[in-house]
Amino acid sequence: MEKEKMFCYQCSQAARGIGCDSAGVCGKNPTLTRLQDNLIYSIQGMSGYLYRARRLGFAPPLPEIDDFISRAFYSMFTNVNFDPESYLQLAIESGKMNLKGMKLLKVAYIERYGESQPTLVQTGIRKGRGIIVTGHGLKVLEELLKQTEGSGINVYTHSEMLPAHAYPELKKYKHLAGNLGKAWHDQRRLFAEYPMAILGTSNCVLIPKEEYKDRFFTTGPVRLPGIRHINGYDYTPVIEKAKSLPELEEKPSETVLTTGYSRSVVLSLKDKIKELVGEGKIRHFFLVGGCDSPTRKMEYYREFVRLLPKDTVVLTLGCGKFRFNDLDLGEIEGIPRLIDLGQCNDAIVAIDIAVSLAEVLGLEMKELPLTLILCWMNQDAIAILWSLIALGLTGIYLGPVPPAWANDGILEVLTNRYGIKFIGDPKEDIDEILGYQNN
Ligand code: SF4
Ligand code: SF4
Repeated sequence: MEKEKMFCYQCSQAARGIGCDSAGVCGKNPTLTRLQDNLIYSIQGMSGYLYRARRLGFAPPLPEIDDFISRAFYSMFTNVNFDPESYLQLAIESGKMNLKGMKLLKVAYIERYGESQPTLVQTGIRKGRGIIVTGHGLKVLEELLKQTEGSGINVYTHSEMLPAHAYPELKKYKHLAGNLGKAWHDQRRLFAEYPMAILGTSNCVLIPKEEYKDRFFTTGPVRLPGIRHINGYDYTPVIEKAKSLPELEEKPSETVLTTGYSRSVVLSLKDKIKELVGEGKIRHFFLVGGCDSPTRKMEYYREFVRLLPKDTVVLTLGCGKFRFNDLDLGEIEGIPRLIDLGQCNDAIVAIDIAVSLAEVLGLEMKELPLTLILCWMNQDAIAILWSLIALGLTGIYLGPVPPAWANDGILEVLTNRYGIKFIGDPKEDIDEILGYQNN
């Protein structure tokens, strides 16, 4: 669809009984329709965090979020709100609500599993039978670990489950054996390769290949065609399936990943960081991360991190990190140059750390030598982007591609008003960022 086109079929006036595609019969235009879509996506992104917090028993009344959601959805009702500016303000409000959602989920994780600790994670196969768990659902992983303890079955994590290895109440399970594969989109290759039972716990599952359908299970909100679904937390069918499969042979891997830097751990290093920044030994911080996607343009992120000078530190989160988390960036006098903060909702941890570092260094947030290099794929990232905009952060580099819902008018607002830049050449972007810093 051309960028100045739209599509809406939400009322009986839909053009030709099909849909309004260049202008709404009601008077809605493409920009308005696209701003409404953006708002829907941002609310969807927030919903994943709230859902997961509630699964962990953290379901406090959230009147502000309830009020916002009903107001935002009602604004998009036919013939209610034709003001594009108000949709931008609603998007910023969605970012603020998403901050509350991410915070609630982080509190839930910490209260339930303890604060994460830097942890080395193996990426090879242990001899024996296995179950691989994909997605973000730590509660599902916890229940599965309890139910498989002592069974001889090894439990592996995939993609965004990697940070699970760093939470004390999860890492205590000796049969939490390691992390396999990279970001979500390698599932079809990975799951076909290893004859294990598979459990899909959240968004970012793929329609399975025929060859492993019989050993794939979903749970929670996830559903896949022809795949057995488990309501609740009794994973006996998954465990029985794993037992029926052949043993895997030992297959060690040289790659060991480090994850689990919590806010407390990073801030325990604040005096040393202050000293190194003061001495010019740390020149700049980057937050490089977000959602990976299967496009060659994502190669930018590995190249960007690889080319960074040795006096820079990279914070990361989300599955975008699988583009570069096998790189050994070394340390700066004991401060690791690659700091994995966790899942995409740990953007809240990155924000807390940035605010605290600004305080420690006696700087305003906008003066902090920090640049965000984000990759987006789905609604989580859209919600986080609006959270960052709501916090007034500017100069964010976004990729791998501009959001498809944004037409030229919306892109202009994103760039001119909110300071969003789109990734280009990694070397040129680094030079631009660090050159700017030197001025
Ligand atoms: S709400 Fe407006 S744009 Fe949407 S189908 Fe109805 S008339 Fe068309
Ligand atoms: S970081 Fe984004 S793309 Fe990756 S698994 Fe999480 S939600 Fe999906």
